[in-house]
Amino acid sequence: MTPVIRLEDLTVAYNRHPAVHHVTGAFARGSLTAIAGPNGAGKSTLVKAIMGELRPAEGRVEHRLARAEFGYLPQAAEIDRRFPISVIDTVMLGVWKSRGAFGRVAPADIKRAGEALAAVGLDGFARRHVGSLSAGQFQRVLFARLLLQDAGVILLDEPFTAIDARTTRDLLDIVARWHGEGRTVIAVLHDFDVVRTHFPQTLLLARELVGWGPTADVMSAANLMKARAMAERWDEDAAACTPQEAPAA
Ligand code: ADP
Ligand code: MG
Repeated sequence: MTPVIRLEDLTVAYNRHPAVHHVTGAFARGSLTAIAGPNGAGKSTLVKAIMGELRPAEGRVEHRLARAEFGYLPQAAEIDRRFPISVIDTVMLGVWKSRGAFGRVAPADIKRAGEALAAVGLDGFARRHVGSLSAGQFQRVLFARLLLQDAGVILLDEPFTAIDARTTRDLLDIVARWHGEGRTVIAVLHDFDVVRTHFPQTLLLARELVGWGPTADVMSAANLMKARAMAERWDEDAAACTPQEAPAA
């Protein structure tokens, strides 16, 4: 296995309370990994630390990737779509992001943006205001943006939460396509059926690592019980470890 991202004793804390605790392991290049775990397990925190948005309190995230080589879809609650912007401009943000704010957008990019919209089933939606879309349609727009961005590592935080079944199926096809193209895909997921059916690798987190490896091994009944039991103990253990508080990167 060729690791593309390595986590070395990674601890990430908010106000000295560790949300991710001493996690060690690696994502192989081209792997397709689910991050699973109870609410508050530190899944989003882990993704942000991998992206470099949060700085470790202890340990480190090791990779040789530039920021533009990461494609990131935050959890829906963190995306504001009241912003008055069209579907096509939202997709084009994928290009601006990867070229820097002042990069030129060429006609070829606009053509590719149109193709990305067609690929997610949104032909004819280019001029629509994003605020007028359903949750599923908006998620398709964000996937089109990732398609255009063409990143080697793609991080998705609960991409199918509150999304209709049809859209989930279509977007899972895109995830499978990315995997087939050799990209590294990491997705936070709460639906265990989706994890078991579509994700060969799983990282099971309950602040600490419960398991990380082939999904069938990691998602065992014993591990899931262990994760739940760890979640129930969180309040008592909150101050058990007090690493240096880390400001955001
Ligand atoms: P998950 O995504 O697994 O539900 P999170 O990573 O969002 O979990 O949160 C892990 C823990 O860190 C939770 O206890 C949460 O309340 C806390 N937390 C998350 N974000 C912040 C923040 N910005 N400030 C303080 N605490 C936070
Ligand atoms: Mg989360």
